[in-house]
Amino acid sequence: MDFIYLDNNATTPLNPVVLESMLPFLKEDYGNASSVHELGRRARTALEKSRGQIADLFNAKPEEIIFTSCGTESDNYAILGTAYLPENRHKQIITSKIEHHAVLHTVEFLEKQGYPAVYLDVDENGIIKLDQLEKALEKETSLVSIMYANNEVGSLQPIEQIAKMCNEKGVKFHTDAVQAFAKHPVDMSKIPIDMLSLSAHKIYGPKGVGAMYIRKGVKLFRLMHGGHHEKNKRPGTENVAGIVGLATAARRLQNNHEEENKRLSLLRDKLQTALLNNIPDCYVNGMNAARLANTLNIRFDYVEGESILLHLDMEGICASSGSACTSDTLEPSHVLLAMCVPKERAHGSIRFSLGETNTEEQIDKVIDLMPTLIKKLRSMSPLGHKSNK
Ligand SMILES: *Cc1c(COP(=O)(O)O)cnc(C)c1O
Repeated sequence: MDFIYLDNNATTPLNPVVLESMLPFLKEDYGNASSVHELGRRARTALEKSRGQIADLFNAKPEEIIFTSCGTESDNYAILGTAYLPENRHKQIITSKIEHHAVLHTVEFLEKQGYPAVYLDVDENGIIKLDQLEKALEKETSLVSIMYANNEVGSLQPIEQIAKMCNEKGVKFHTDAVQAFAKHPVDMSKIPIDMLSLSAHKIYGPKGVGAMYIRKGVKLFRLMHGGHHEKNKRPGTENVAGIVGLATAARRLQNNHEEENKRLSLLRDKLQTALLNNIPDCYVNGMNAARLANTLNIRFDYVEGESILLHLDMEGICASSGSACTSDTLEPSHVLLAMCVPKERAHGSIRFSLGETNTEEQIDKVIDLMPTLIKKLRSMSPLGHKSNK
């Protein structure tokens, strides 16, 4: 079956150019980047070249980039690595209610160890309230961690303002930019971000490789112990093929981000408008937010999101109920609840997240299919629906 893959915020297909760039390091150039012989030197050269390429995308220095195993590891290192510094013990940490679980559960873990934590509210568009942040910053704080772009609804936070507010107070600022990286470029010489997390598999790169930007001078408590890899910050033999793939993917996307964001937002808006016009009682979650170009989180009243997804799946259409990490639980999305979507309505929400492989033809197929599907599900639903009566 030819799939229509609309779950790009969960993961993306590996781009063929990216795969091609990785192959030499999975085949003949298999050296360990720490070895001194020719094969080791080739791996080292590829590794450092990739580091430089990623640093360039941020207008940063190569030594400010370290490679990790994923976005989750980067988030953990930024948060735990800051909190565990002796001078930061039991100081307050500020985050938001709509973070990815890689951040949220890490802060909750610290809270259990006696660290005071503040979870900032968001408005109905999934944007934090800056005055609430300002107030929270009055108490001595070691770290603020606010995501750049939300994975479920796509809302973009005012990262520059947040970074500046933290910087003025001398508080470290980390952002989980896994969904925004290479789509919304960041110039580190202009925005005082201290740490940033990213991941390859959300930008058409391979799974199992990520990176962190760590501003020069920012200290972190070591979480893992081993060799002297990654400037002594992250031990473990580097995943050279993965890192080369990450750098290729990031450059490809960032160099083309304006055009691709435009293309995706046209497709997304076409889908959004058609669903809103052709299906009664449906609403876009975060409709008026500055949003990622590819993301549409939409709510259909009187029907379960899970049953929509099952029926789409039978047609070869891959969508999601929001967060891939919570979709096997029946808890409504913490993001939608924070946006004050009532519990039963949150359950009727699904996320379409578009990507570079999607065509207009595919979107048209979804547009054709959805009204009939929703009507059918509503007619079967015990929740009932007036338009079917
Ligand atoms: C996917 C994702 C992560 C986790 O990244 P992994 O590389 O899968 O560990 C973290 N934050 C956000 C916003 C994400 O979308």
